[in-house]
Amino acid sequence: MPNMRPTSMTIKVISSALATMREEIALTPPHLETGGILLGTLEPWNVTVAGHAGPGAVRTPAFFLRDLEYAQQMAAVEFERSGAIWIGEWHTHPSGPQHPSATDLDTYQNLQYQARGPLRAGVISIIITTCNGCLNLTAWSCVNRTATQLHVEES
Ligand SMILES: [Zn+2]
Repeated sequence: MPNMRPTSMTIKVISSALATMREEIALTPPHLETGGILLGTLEPWNVTVAGHAGPGAVRTPAFFLRDLEYAQQMAAVEFERSGAIWIGEWHTHPSGPQHPSATDLDTYQNLQYQARGPLRAGVISIIITTCNGCLNLTAWSCVNRTATQLHVEES
């Protein structure tokens, strides 16, 4: 179990972003991970847009890598359109756990240190587990390999 802290803060996820995640999950064989980027605002924490995985994404039962070029292009278009910024990443864990894995925290730390924009402060992570059509969603603020759980408010 990676470094975890209890829930203390809230992130709002708007319904169209949730709809995109549901759509992406429905398009993916249930035993494979999928995901995408999260765009929105940091103060307060809002997810306004969720990305698809993109045509070049790598999906396996225990690993997922989004299509970077697709993600960057989408982030640029969305910034232009709405001002939403790249705040993090979402992905599924078909067989758990319901929190970022140690590998995920390594990935987020790399993202954090390589970023020039807002990800430099930390990476918002949404982890989704599925059970016959239902989705369990948790959100985390990941800073320096420590994940702090956030309350999720769907709106
Ligand atoms: Zn993961």
